[in-house]
Amino acid sequence: MSDYSKYSPQTRFAHMARPKAGLGTPVNTSIQRASTLLFERAEDLYRGDVRGYGRHGVEVHDNLKDIFCELEGGKGASLTPSGLAACTLAIMSIVKAGDHLLLTDSTYGPVRNFCLNYLNTIGVETEIYDPHIGGNIESLIRDNTSLIWLESPGSLTFEIQNLPAIATAAKARDVTTIIDNTWSGGITLKPLSLGIDISVHSATKYFGGHSDLLAGVVISGSENLAKKVAQTSKYIGHSLAADDAYQILRGMRTVFPRFQQAESTALELAQWLSERSDVELVLHPALPEHPDHALWARDFTGGACTFSFTLKDKTEAHAVKFINGLNIFGIGYSYGGFESLAIHCGPQLKRSLSKQNFKGPLVRLACGVEASKDLIHDLKQGFNAIS
Ligand SMILES: *Cc1c(COP(=O)(O)O)cnc(C)c1O
Repeated sequence: MSDYSKYSPQTRFAHMARPKAGLGTPVNTSIQRASTLLFERAEDLYRGDVRGYGRHGVEVHDNLKDIFCELEGGKGASLTPSGLAACTLAIMSIVKAGDHLLLTDSTYGPVRNFCLNYLNTIGVETEIYDPHIGGNIESLIRDNTSLIWLESPGSLTFEIQNLPAIATAAKARDVTTIIDNTWSGGITLKPLSLGIDISVHSATKYFGGHSDLLAGVVISGSENLAKKVAQTSKYIGHSLAADDAYQILRGMRTVFPRFQQAESTALELAQWLSERSDVELVLHPALPEHPDHALWARDFTGGACTFSFTLKDKTEAHAVKFINGLNIFGIGYSYGGFESLAIHCGPQLKRSLSKQNFKGPLVRLACGVEASKDLIHDLKQGFNAIS
């Protein structure tokens, strides 16, 4: 691989981890589909210093891991068959029976479920903490605390966490920190540089980018942790199909322009909504009125494609009617694809501590690459449906 380190990320991502140009070589890494890998000599089967079996990946997986490490400044990456699998792999790499885990109240629902409803059955205790706790997390750390799980901004509710303060408190007690960094795509937040140990992503979102595959990645800030995660992945047996790894690598080539367009559309829509009298609250950390705006401005270099807002003096039934009144926004989970999406959050919003007391129903928008004026027109139709 040539040295692209002097270039900006979008240039690096277009050029790194590709085959060397020769006489008529393809631009992209070829997909090799393999379970069995063959050896010429029996004595090579157990060498251990070459690929042995398809589950451990082929060249396309190596290229993808390299580019993920480059994205976050990581020392090693493990690929998983979904984003949720990346989250659970990272957790399982750190905790053991008898341990105590601190989980932010703003955690993505399925990860919360895994900790509260599965880890408890294998002797790991989960304690939920307020996402705004900052350095005071120190008071919750016990002798058997092995992991602090972060997500910033929080899923659906967009609280920003004080990452360096939490990382410092954790390091002082030898506790590992892991962040679910899916929202920022690793593009507008670099948690490893702020002292967090491991960053996980649902690659399903921006990197896949086209709503047609599932994948995840665990990126570690040290070689030691990277080895630990890779070993746990081997124990569990995670693998990612070469075709899916290829599609993620393909998405990586264009992730910057796609992300930037969706990010700027999301901000434009958030600003437009915040000026409407029928909107109570817009939860986008780039807006100066967001309660955590200062923290966001300190640690992030930009936004992302999703944010939420609440309808003023309306009920959950109005939120349903609002979303049904939209034409361009699809009704569905996820984000980071080329197409915009909307969901009402009420039925899946689980919080133990942070009493948000939203005065109206919460709606989350995920912006795709459509023209923002068309999306604004679409939102007007939603408001018409409930006015
Ligand atoms: C989507 C998402 C996940 C899960 O990813 P999948 O690829 O859908 O399994 C995890 N965390 C966050 C924050 C997400 O948005």
